[in-house]
Amino acid sequence: MPGACARTVFRCFRSLERLGDRITGAAGPFFVALAVILLSIGIVCFFDIEQPALRWPWLTTSVCVLLALNTLGHYFWACTIPPGFVEDPPRQGGSGWMWARKRRAVRNRALTGVRWSEDVTVSKASVGKCRKCLKPRPERTHHCRICNRCVLKYDHHCPVPGVNQCVGLHNERHFILFMAYLVIASFCYVLFGWHQFLEAIGYYHQPTWPYRVPTLAFVLTYILAGVLSLAVAVMCSWHVWSVAKGETSVEAYDHEHYRKIAEGRGETFVNSYDLGKRKNLELFFNVGSDGYPFYTLLFPFRIDPYTDGWSWARREGYERHRGVREGDELTDEEDS
Ligand SMILES: [Zn+2]
Ligand SMILES: [Zn+2]
Repeated sequence: MPGACARTVFRCFRSLERLGDRITGAAGPFFVALAVILLSIGIVCFFDIEQPALRWPWLTTSVCVLLALNTLGHYFWACTIPPGFVEDPPRQGGSGWMWARKRRAVRNRALTGVRWSEDVTVSKASVGKCRKCLKPRPERTHHCRICNRCVLKYDHHCPVPGVNQCVGLHNERHFILFMAYLVIASFCYVLFGWHQFLEAIGYYHQPTWPYRVPTLAFVLTYILAGVLSLAVAVMCSWHVWSVAKGETSVEAYDHEHYRKIAEGRGETFVNSYDLGKRKNLELFFNVGSDGYPFYTLLFPFRIDPYTDGWSWARREGYERHRGVREGDELTDEEDS
């Protein structure tokens, strides 16, 4: 009975989430236009008002340009790189200037879609069948009801602000880096502009506003950047925390459900994808001892994920989650 009750609560929660999806989905194009307009005004304000007053202009301006490039670059990748669908052929990494360079050792290793690492066990995913599109699909894949396709390592379908596609295996890294850089950039905008902000609202009794950009535009973008840096920081932290625990957004809910079932039986649930916080983060961003160099996190480079979505790195000694029995698994039917 407690299991059935948990499922009902779970279903209610999903319906609420779906309603939210629909509302934000309808407002999508409006948000994109608004985001682009505000971002442009923000950049013009920054270079007209804040940048000329910066100390050590060579250093600070370069850092600010890098922040802007990363924010826009990762936003562009998150919107344009398909998340990865089950029917896609394995992707080959590109070699242009947009792609990060691999370490020599990693580059020369024999690869068959999956990078078999030295200190991590990567094993083949169990393959099931989607009841909606009837295609074979590996574990961690979910059917997106908006795209109506099965997405590898499905995290969520993101209708705002303009990503307007699923976040999954191939674009999740860019999605999180976009949020992180947006938070840092808005925070810097607020930090470096507080003096001019006080000037704009008349705090200093100055007769004139010495900049070309209207006061209203600056005040508006300044307040917005303040709100944005806080709101997105909360979202971003939640996502990074999930990544550190080795979970996607869907799995975060599913695992909560499994944890309760296992507890009811006096067992402990163990997530087999959880290799420890540091290793989980390294695998997600594909950096570290057997990935790309750490500096790749500072540039808007494209990087392939460590797996093709048909194999997963697992905790030593775990081929599947502990505490989950046959029949306990939540399916997409329950999700929708
Ligand atoms: Zn499907
Ligand atoms: Zn989708």
